[in-house]
Amino acid sequence: MKKNDIIDIKIESMSSLGSGIGRYEGLAVFVPLSAVGDVLKVRILKVKTNCAFGKIEEIITESKTRIAPDCSVFSKCGGCVYRHISYSEEQRIKQQSVEDAVRRIGKVDLAAKSIVTNEKNCGYRNKAQYPVSQNGKVGFFANHSHRIVECESCLLQPEEFTRICEIFTFWMQTSGNLPYNEETGKGLVRHLYIRKGLKTGEIMVCLVINGEKVNAAKRLVEDLQHELGDNLKTVVLNINKAKTNVILSDKCVPIYGNGYIYDILCGVRVRLNPLSFYQVNRDMAELLYQKAAEYAAPEGKTVLDLYCGAGTIGLSMANKAKNIIGVEVIPEAVEDANFNAQNNGIANARFICADAAVAAQTLAQEGIKPDVIIVDPPRKGCSQELLATIANSFCPQKLVYVSCDPATLARDINILSGLGYKLQEYTPFDLFPRTSHVETVALLVKGEESGK
Ligand code: SAH
Repeated sequence: MKKNDIIDIKIESMSSLGSGIGRYEGLAVFVPLSAVGDVLKVRILKVKTNCAFGKIEEIITESKTRIAPDCSVFSKCGGCVYRHISYSEEQRIKQQSVEDAVRRIGKVDLAAKSIVTNEKNCGYRNKAQYPVSQNGKVGFFANHSHRIVECESCLLQPEEFTRICEIFTFWMQTSGNLPYNEETGKGLVRHLYIRKGLKTGEIMVCLVINGEKVNAAKRLVEDLQHELGDNLKTVVLNINKAKTNVILSDKCVPIYGNGYIYDILCGVRVRLNPLSFYQVNRDMAELLYQKAAEYAAPEGKTVLDLYCGAGTIGLSMANKAKNIIGVEVIPEAVEDANFNAQNNGIANARFICADAAVAAQTLAQEGIKPDVIIVDPPRKGCSQELLATIANSFCPQKLVYVSCDPATLARDINILSGLGYKLQEYTPFDLFPRTSHVETVALLVKGEESGK
């Protein structure tokens, strides 16, 4: 097989990034935008030693799972990968990908519980960060690229976001503010960033700028107020003059309101500033946290919440637990967590700003003995040192692992099983319908035979 060959292939499975996989001459061929069951003519784009990449040249027989994509920029924008197949097929794929990772990488022969979804696969996001194109329009980056695909109306966002985009675009085109150019580092307006408390209705609009101020700020605020009324709680400038592709700097200047909004999650009123981490699918996050609480069974227990962000998981259990200790590395998030505890009258939670592995060691040395540990690490998973401290020093009865990457979850499950912790149950959650991402909550329990 070589570049530009046209081959016939049947798609048999899906990769974790949402490409279909077929086999040809013993080699796995990855084909984006295909569906399991498709028979295709595929043009080979690249051949590596153990796999190849291709694109659809012609669909010979269409998979029964196919549907007509309902978005005009699907396949161009880097957001959704599954708008061309039914939502039930997407669920099946995600369920299987989590289970495959646990079996293959985790080496545990245990089926996952059924994937949890609330069936809401449009308008579920509470946050959008739109890069601004050279035409002063908003959009999204194409896959693996910084090319902007213009799009004001994304199906994953709440409807108001479209109207805010329209107001912003008109303002860009009539206010004399220039869009930022990533290549030259010139121009002013880099991103439009919108956040909404889906439960409270409160909206924050943030402009990321390569400067200190914008022209006609007052008019933008008035136009937004006119459209959104009291729901517009704050408009913020994020000052980012660095030549970097990191979207936000840590400098936020409110030009309207106090610079934050509130939402309510699992009964906890949560304050959000532009920098706070908050799950983008609020309604599903609530179900996920409920499952984490069910696995943790925190009644009367000391709970250690590692990678706690603004403290949301721990705080949602605080009324049942004896006490909560949260650990998070970002100082602003810890400030949010402390504020959220106080603002909700929660007195049995404290938060530590530190690396999770370092804090765990210190706490262990202080003789703290959590009954339950919750970890919710970023995609790269937990460090070996942290897992060792958990298993050897804390030895809690239960470990609840919330993961946004099945592969690193499975790797850590495997490490933990060597340390005496057994995977008892795990449940995938579809927090990001139509994209390739899937979240999982796993319950690991201390094995009898470990003797700890
Ligand atoms: N549990 C929270 C946040 C999960 S996201 C929630 O559900 O909202 C993962 C969090 O881990 C982020 O807030 C990130 O800042 C934090 N983090 C990343 N690396 C870390 C480390 N080494 N030690 C502690 N926290 C870390």
